[in-house]
Amino acid sequence: MSFTLPDLPYAHDALAPYMSRETLEYHHDKHHLASFTLPDLPYAHDALQPYMSKETLEYHHDKHHLAYVNNGNNAIKGTEFEGKSLEEIVKGSYGKNPAVFNNAGQHYNHLHFWQWMKPNGGGDKIPGNLEKKIIADLGSVAKMKEDFIQAGVTQFGSGWCWLAVKDGKIAITKTANGENPLVHGGKPILGCDVWEHSYYIDYRNRRPDYLKAFMDHLVNWEHVAKMYDAAMK
Ligand code: ZN
Repeated sequence: MSFTLPDLPYAHDALAPYMSRETLEYHHDKHHLASFTLPDLPYAHDALQPYMSKETLEYHHDKHHLAYVNNGNNAIKGTEFEGKSLEEIVKGSYGKNPAVFNNAGQHYNHLHFWQWMKPNGGGDKIPGNLEKKIIADLGSVAKMKEDFIQAGVTQFGSGWCWLAVKDGKIAITKTANGENPLVHGGKPILGCDVWEHSYYIDYRNRRPDYLKAFMDHLVNWEHVAKMYDAAMK
């Protein structure tokens, strides 16, 4: 999906003196240009219960993700990142512009996080190609789940744990705050949000229980397989 900027239906100076050429140059040419938008959830807010509550998704998607979208759009205004793709912004701002990076990184992570879950997900039914690769690179499906959960449990403070493709192999990693495998030369195929805003309402301090429920009941393995196929191309 991409958005395109339409031409104005009149010259930039055609509305002067009531709206100046300068106003239209800024308002149309810059403010309207490619900006982050909050996608709808791909399911109802209560569809992931009892593993992730309606209240959690109302806060996490409707408020936290929206804040990353709005703060990201404000941070990008007037910088070299205006008009670039989200992946380019994430990689280009890492280590250079924390306000842009933190919000763009979290926008990228959350866009995918919603897709990485579905009602009646999780479990061991993993599409064939991906299952074979998991067994080859990580030992077994059971071992992958255990190590993924362990990465999330041991991420100190806010962050994410990941399955990512790097150098043709699947690896399990963890990152702090808004970081993700893109800035470490990898391509994320599954991530779990271990910021407290993702689990505190439902699990309080029991992060391991949240990660286990994510793996056993929420992961959309078909979507992970799609990202795996794209990452291997
Ligand atoms: Zn989050």
